[in-house]
Amino acid sequence: MSPLLKLEEIHSYYGKIHALKGVSLEVGEGEIVALLGSNGAGKSTTLKTISGLVPPKSGTLEFGGKNIAGRPPHQVVEAGITHVPEGRRIFGGLTVMENLELGGFTKRKDKAFLKDGIDRSFELFPRLKERKDQLAGTLSGGEQQMLAISRGLMAEPKLLMLDEPSMGLAPIIVQGIMEIIQEINKQGTTVLLIEQNARAALGLADRGYIIETGEIVLHDTAEVLRDDDRIIKAYLGA
Ligand code: ATP
Repeated sequence: MSPLLKLEEIHSYYGKIHALKGVSLEVGEGEIVALLGSNGAGKSTTLKTISGLVPPKSGTLEFGGKNIAGRPPHQVVEAGITHVPEGRRIFGGLTVMENLELGGFTKRKDKAFLKDGIDRSFELFPRLKERKDQLAGTLSGGEQQMLAISRGLMAEPKLLMLDEPSMGLAPIIVQGIMEIIQEINKQGTTVLLIEQNARAALGLADRGYIIETGEIVLHDTAEVLRDDDRIIKAYLGA
């Protein structure tokens, strides 16, 4: 079976900066795949390339067997991919509810669709229900991350891409977020997860890719990567 997402020899640039130098990776339907690497390695750029924010200069980018390279972000969302960016980017001056409604924007005309999405979010994150009328900017870091993930789920993606969901959160909160990601996956959403916290990510991923200065240097099952201290030390800074 062909993978849900397939990148082959992707090259992406910021002006003259060659950020991705021939990245190839695959995400199968139902998988959780982690993309790991140090600061500036190209993790965020990989997600931005997939979501259409940084269109690739060359290479192939297929989702569900269709070429999506160079499509604008709203079309990528419509194709079934959502991107929860680094730093969460929720709208602090809007309420929790309003942030969720914006996540369902592409299908906004249908009120039932919005309501279903909001109900699902509140089931996953009861905390958000309690705080639904609160301004998002007043939430804790962990709650803001929950909101960012929920907002991403509002479009009912086939593939959810998360950029460093653990960033700036206390270990106990990180653990909770990782469990929720696992639950979202169990409910049928494929996940591509970027993390600097390699141990947390490999704890739930099926497979992992390691990126260094714009190139994939290693990929294997999470089990193999997890148990190899040499790899953890060399690539992930134990
Ligand atoms: P981090 O966790 O720090 O975001 P990363 O692995 O996600 O790291 P990227 O953000 O993808 O790394 O950056 C890859 C390379 O592209 C780096 O050399 C970075 O300096 C460069 N880069 C990223 N964003 C821009 C930009 N907007 N303009 C120019 N260069 C950029």
